[in-house]
Amino acid sequence: MSRDSTDIRVDQEPPTAHYELNGSIGEGSFGNVVVGTHILTQTKVAVKVIKKQVSDQTRSSLLQEARCMADLQHPNIVQLFHVIIADESLYLVMEFVPGGDMLDYLTDNGPMSEDTARGVFRQLVSAVHYCHEKGVVHRDLKPDNVLLDSRMNATLVDFGLGASSNIHQLRKLCGTLIYTAPELFLRKPYDGCAADIWSLGMVLYEMLTNMEPVDTASWPVLMMKIRNGQDFVPTYLSIQVANLLQKLLNLHPRQRDNLRDIMSDPWINMGQEEELKPYVEPPSDVIDTWVMEEMVNLGFGEEDIKNALGNKIYSNILATYRILHRKNLKYQLRIIKVKPFHPPEFQSRSPSPAQEVQSELSCCQQAEQLPMDQEPGEKAGESTSPTYTQDYSTAISQSRTTLPPSRPGSQTAIPEPSRKSRNDTPEPPPPKHCWGSRTSTSQHSQDSSTTSSGGNQQKIKPGRRQVFRGCLKFLRKVFCLPPKKGSAKAVK
Ligand code: ADP
Ligand code: MG
Repeated sequence: MSRDSTDIRVDQEPPTAHYELNGSIGEGSFGNVVVGTHILTQTKVAVKVIKKQVSDQTRSSLLQEARCMADLQHPNIVQLFHVIIADESLYLVMEFVPGGDMLDYLTDNGPMSEDTARGVFRQLVSAVHYCHEKGVVHRDLKPDNVLLDSRMNATLVDFGLGASSNIHQLRKLCGTLIYTAPELFLRKPYDGCAADIWSLGMVLYEMLTNMEPVDTASWPVLMMKIRNGQDFVPTYLSIQVANLLQKLLNLHPRQRDNLRDIMSDPWINMGQEEELKPYVEPPSDVIDTWVMEEMVNLGFGEEDIKNALGNKIYSNILATYRILHRKNLKYQLRIIKVKPFHPPEFQSRSPSPAQEVQSELSCCQQAEQLPMDQEPGEKAGESTSPTYTQDYSTAISQSRTTLPPSRPGSQTAIPEPSRKSRNDTPEPPPPKHCWGSRTSTSQHSQDSSTTSSGGNQQKIKPGRRQVFRGCLKFLRKVFCLPPKKGSAKAVK
C-alpha cells in the first residue's frame, strides 16, 4: 500500500490478484477500459488501464480522476472501487455499467421524447448537483460520458477533467468544444459549476434534437442565435423545455440558474410525484451492516474493514465493501425517481420533425429532393462561396474531442470502433490520431512541437492546430471577444 503524493492510498498488488481482466469495452486517450470480474464476489467491473508509458504529468492527471471520484457515492455516478498502481500501470477499477453511452443511444434511436429526456436529465441534474456540493466540477459533460442502462438509468463517468469547485482560479480551457461554456474561451478565471451547467444545457439540447454537430453547421448557427438573443430552441419542442434550455444556455455565467433552482423548474418536475430534491447520502460513518456481515463471512476482519473505510485505503477490502454495498438492494432503491409521464398540458409550438416529414411527404410528392446540406435554390454539384459555417463545418465535425490543454501526455487518439454515423450516409473514417476521433485527445497544444515516435502523428499535428485555432477564432467572433494579444500571427 502506498500513499501517493496526491493523498490517494493506492494498492500495489497486481490487479490479477483480485480480478480477471477480459475484453476491451472502450478506448480512451490514455488506455483501454476493459471489463473484468472481481473474483471474490464474481461481480463485473470496468477497469480503466493506463499503460506504463504515461508521463508523470499524465499520471498525476489520472490520479486526479481518482481523487475526484473518491468521495462520490451517488446512484447516478460511477463508483470507484479500487486504485492500483502495479507493473508501471495505473488501474482504476469501477462499477461496470452495461448498456453503452448516450451518444450511441442517440445514434441508434434518434432524439429522445421529452418524457424520456426528462427522466434521464433529472438524474443528471441530481448527479452534477451532488458533485458540486461535494466540491467537484466535471468539466467534460457530454453524451459520451453518460452511460444508459436498459431502463434509461443514467450513470455519469469520466472525471478525467474533474477539478475542485472550490478553486475560484479555474482558468484552463478544457472540455469538449461543442459543450464548453463560452466564458472558458476568455482565458480568465471561471466558475466551474456554471460551466458544467452550460454543458448540461448542451447535453439536454442534443438529447431532444439529436442536433448533428458532427456533420452539419448547426452548432455555429446555434451559437450565433444564442449570442444574438434569438430563439434557438426548435419550435416542435414545448415552451416549458425551451424556457429551461434558455436558463441553462445563458451566455452570462452569473445569470445562469444554479442547479438548485433548476431542480424546481416546471419542465423538470412535470408529472412527477415530487419536486426533484438534492440527493441526500447516508452519513459516511454509517456502516452497511449487511455488507459487514457478508464480508465477515468471507473471512475479512471487522477492524480491517473499518480501517480501510475510515482511512480510504484503496485495497481489496475497500473494493469488496464498495462492490457489495453497491449491490445492496437498499442502496439501489435510492435511484432518483423518473416516473414516465405524458402531460396533458404539453404545449408543443409546432409539429415535430417526424410529423412535418409526414405532412411534407403527403403534399410535396413532387418536390425536388435536395442533397444533404444543400440550400433551396442551390443546384447539386454547384459549389457556393464558402461561408463561415462551411469553413467551420470541418472544425465542428472534429470537435467532439476533449480540448487539448486538458490532458497532457497521450501519444495516440484511438478511433472508437463502435462509433456509428448518426445519419444514414456513411461517415468517412476519421483519420487516425486526429480530432475527428470520438475519444478524447489528450495532446497539449504545446505538445505538438514535441517529437512523436509515430509517423502519422507528425502529419496530423498542423491540422489539429488549425482546427483548434479555427474554432477559437470562430468563438471569438461569435462572442465578440477581443483578439488574443500577440496571437494573430500564430493563428495565421
Ligand atoms: P476517456 O477519458 O478516454 O473518455 P472514459 O472514462 O470516458 O475514458 O471511458 C471511455 C469509454 O469506456 C466510455 O465512453 C464508455 O463507453 C466506456 N466506459 C467507461 N467507464 C465505463 C463503465 N464504468 N462501465 C461501462 N463502460 C464504461
Ligand atoms: Mg470520456
